[in-house]
Amino acid sequence: MKRTTAGLALTAVLGILPLVGSTGLSQTYKAPGCQRVWRIHDMERPRPPVVDPGTAGMTVEPTKPPSDAVVLFDGKDLSQWRSVKGGPARWKVQDGAMVVVRGSGDIRSLRAFGDCQIHIEWAAPAPAKGSGQGRGNSGVYIMGLYEVQVLDSYQNDTYPDGQAAAVYGQYPPLVNACRPPGQWQSYDIIFHRPRFGKDGELLQPARVTVLHNGILVQDNVAIKGPTDWMHIRPYKKHLDKLPLVLQDHGNPVRYRNIWVRELPDPDQPWCGLRPEVYLGPEVLKRYTGWYGNLLISLQGDHLVARLSKSVLVPFFPENNRLFFSKTVGVELEFKLNDRGLPVSVIRREGGHEKELKVR
Ligand code: MG
Repeated sequence: MKRTTAGLALTAVLGILPLVGSTGLSQTYKAPGCQRVWRIHDMERPRPPVVDPGTAGMTVEPTKPPSDAVVLFDGKDLSQWRSVKGGPARWKVQDGAMVVVRGSGDIRSLRAFGDCQIHIEWAAPAPAKGSGQGRGNSGVYIMGLYEVQVLDSYQNDTYPDGQAAAVYGQYPPLVNACRPPGQWQSYDIIFHRPRFGKDGELLQPARVTVLHNGILVQDNVAIKGPTDWMHIRPYKKHLDKLPLVLQDHGNPVRYRNIWVRELPDPDQPWCGLRPEVYLGPEVLKRYTGWYGNLLISLQGDHLVARLSKSVLVPFFPENNRLFFSKTVGVELEFKLNDRGLPVSVIRREGGHEKELKVR
């Protein structure tokens, strides 16, 4: 997951230098009914109007999540988070908030999500330090790929497609509804994942709606591809569910009250809401090999099992032992030793089960 590093220096030069030698040149945006074409991170692009959000969505204490939400952070610990580099998340928990620790790296949720509703609260450091992209920068990367920018955009100018609540490098927010640094702010995000065809071709782009402090700032926009600094990466087929990632951009931004409601997935009617975690290829590798006559291998970032001579079925983890198929009614439950390595797998199917030992 590539970082979206937007430097101060760039903010300074973008206004005066043409962009050259970048794929960003071809990735421009033309407003409806407008001849003007905006380059990515164009400093001449008009600023979204500033709107005082009043007290919309504002609470002193975090609100209680809905009963069907997956709570990712309730002020207590980072048990639902991992470092994207592997291992535990190394941000700190302080006064009911989790705080970015500079240099510790981005963190990701253990759980993976596709179509979903996300609630997250954040506060920029106070007093404000730095300017442009260097002030209170972090980010909410949906599926680890599509960034809704977190930035202290209160009286802090930067390129509009990189200010708070922008779909980074693609869509400025409709208005700037930022609260002053130090105050809690909320994002409520409705996200639909991209759809890919069998050969990896894009059928439908991802779509996102964002409310910033209760105010609509992204209205069901079609995301053009994974977000990045200075260019938009092309879509590349990925898993249907991936973790939520929060960015360490070096500023001590605070987060609290993070929850996600999974939305029914029309493409996965019977397993769309089954909990799924992200283990990553490094961990999944441990499960590969022969179990009796069953071969389990790694394909990209998921396991596949050869259930019969000609049938190769993808499996997805509900936790670090239990894997399920989204296409056939088969479950695989691994028995692990003290070191977390599998010793056998139980194959369950139609009320029957069979234990297969590691060969
Ligand atoms: Mg960011």
